[in-house]
Amino acid sequence: MGKVDWDYVKPVTQPRDLKGTQPGKLPESLLRPAVGGGKLHWLAAAAWAAMVEKAKADGVELKPVSSGDTYRSFDSQLAAFRQRYQKEPIPGASTRTFQGVKWYKKSPKLASLAAPGTSQHNTGLAVDVHTAAEPKRLKWLIANVKDFGFSWEVVPEEPWHLRYCDGDNPPPAVKAYMEKNGITAPAVGAQTASAPAAPSEPVAAKDDGGDLDPGDSGPRVAKLQEELTERGFYKGSIDGDFGPKTTDAVVAFKQSKGYGAGPRAGKRVLDELGIGA
Ligand SMILES: [Zn+2]
Repeated sequence: MGKVDWDYVKPVTQPRDLKGTQPGKLPESLLRPAVGGGKLHWLAAAAWAAMVEKAKADGVELKPVSSGDTYRSFDSQLAAFRQRYQKEPIPGASTRTFQGVKWYKKSPKLASLAAPGTSQHNTGLAVDVHTAAEPKRLKWLIANVKDFGFSWEVVPEEPWHLRYCDGDNPPPAVKAYMEKNGITAPAVGAQTASAPAAPSEPVAAKDDGGDLDPGDSGPRVAKLQEELTERGFYKGSIDGDFGPKTTDAVVAFKQSKGYGAGPRAGKRVLDELGIGA
């Protein structure tokens, strides 16, 4: 990979109010509309708005690639991920690890995508800029992103992907914009209070290769969901979490087979669906 002149990459300092939230499952109270479409964490939204305004004054238009290229929910990131990556091995394909297993990119022509929950799009801090590599726009970005707390992350593959890095201390240009426009933190008292921080990931029940029960998670639960989707019993997302929708689907499937009640996916169910240990 050759060197590029937009290689400014700064580590992300997360805003304090993201503590205890799960990527892709942010409370609506922390999100605000992004100029041009979609939503961002409120601090990133302010920094983005300030940057868009300055660009406009300089004769450069900035907007997101699409509304889906700002904050992404876990489910929308998962849907996009499953369109581009598969579990069946493809020799030479680039890979991502998700739910503890390797996924293979279906075609080299597809753009790479972070596994669900691992992208700054899931924290509301990243925005993909429409035609960012267009020379005039890129030149403007190189000269200005730093002033608004943004930096690149994936160099040199993703000139469009910017994320807000400055946490609760936005740079002066953003502070000035916030003052001018009366932008303040959302009133989410309980959200930022001194409540003990929740673990960033739910503790997954250990999957020992045996029966699957509500509360379990992992690749075999995802496979269970896939098989039940194919048979028309499950209509939720393939997230590998055995939640209420999965429970309902297992119960309905068992009833249809006369396997008896209860939410457990035992040996008979797993064999029937081709899910190994
Ligand atoms: Zn991006």
